[in-house]
Amino acid sequence: MTKLAADLSGKVALVTGAASGLGKEIALAMARSGAAVGVADLNAEGANVVSEQIRNEGGRAIGVLMDVTSENAVDAGVNAVVEEFGALDILVSNAGIQIVSSIVDFAYSDWRKMQAIHVDGAFLTTKAALRHMYKDSRGGVVIYMGSVHSHLASPLKSAYVSAKHALLGLSRTLAKEGAAHNVRSHVVCPGFVRTPLVDRQIPEQAKELGLTEDEVIRNVMLGGTVDGIFTTVEDIANMTLYLAAFPTAALTGQSFVVSHGWFMQ
Ligand code: NAD
Repeated sequence: MTKLAADLSGKVALVTGAASGLGKEIALAMARSGAAVGVADLNAEGANVVSEQIRNEGGRAIGVLMDVTSENAVDAGVNAVVEEFGALDILVSNAGIQIVSSIVDFAYSDWRKMQAIHVDGAFLTTKAALRHMYKDSRGGVVIYMGSVHSHLASPLKSAYVSAKHALLGLSRTLAKEGAAHNVRSHVVCPGFVRTPLVDRQIPEQAKELGLTEDEVIRNVMLGGTVDGIFTTVEDIANMTLYLAAFPTAALTGQSFVVSHGWFMQ
């Protein structure tokens, strides 16, 4: 996979959910592009492993224990990154989970948990980041990890689809409010990527839908793509780097679908 060359030197990034999967790859890619990175996750040990990897590669990073559903934890984590690196220029709000169930059987507590991590987490991290980005109109960019499910629905994913649609609204509102402060916002919308989050879903969906695991992969996950190929963590890191490095507000308030043609806008 060709890595995109983007220059983020002098920039400070905070990536949530960065101990694993997409967030981890984005944190590594941003550090390799010159940014100092706050590697934030509920899994503190995992965040420390990733930040240590960045430092071993000669980059700058700190691990940050952060539950994105806690306002105090988010504020403390964002402040720790700013204290360490002096500013905050890029927020990647990426932490997320998946819970698969039909609406009729969906536990309300699971619905609330999904909204808390995806929607409340995006709001709380944005609010905390903006305090620093708005200072002296330094500006910045906020990138939300949406999904093809920000645009499409699938059975068994009511809470996830609702949460991912909500991110479009938050991002578009921020594009309008943030413009005067030189802040841009975007939603990156991946198709299926083989991360732990997706690997867990394959047997769950097979059971719920009465299919084999291979049928779930071929028909449910990749059936709508143009070529039957999974999107990769590198594809999403490249997209995120491009948006972080883009120099003007010609691009703001947009959603970028990276899905092998599964959804075309
Ligand atoms: P992953 O399970 O590999 O990583 C998710 C990370 O988020 C984990 O490290 C986890 O500890 C962390 N996390 C969970 N709850 C948290 C909380 N409350 N506070 C802080 N961190 C928390 O999953 P992934 O596939 O890399 O998913 C990352 C994001 O990408 C999610 O928002 C997901 O919805 C989105 N996404 C994934 C895919 C895919 O196919 N993998 C497709 C579209 C969108």
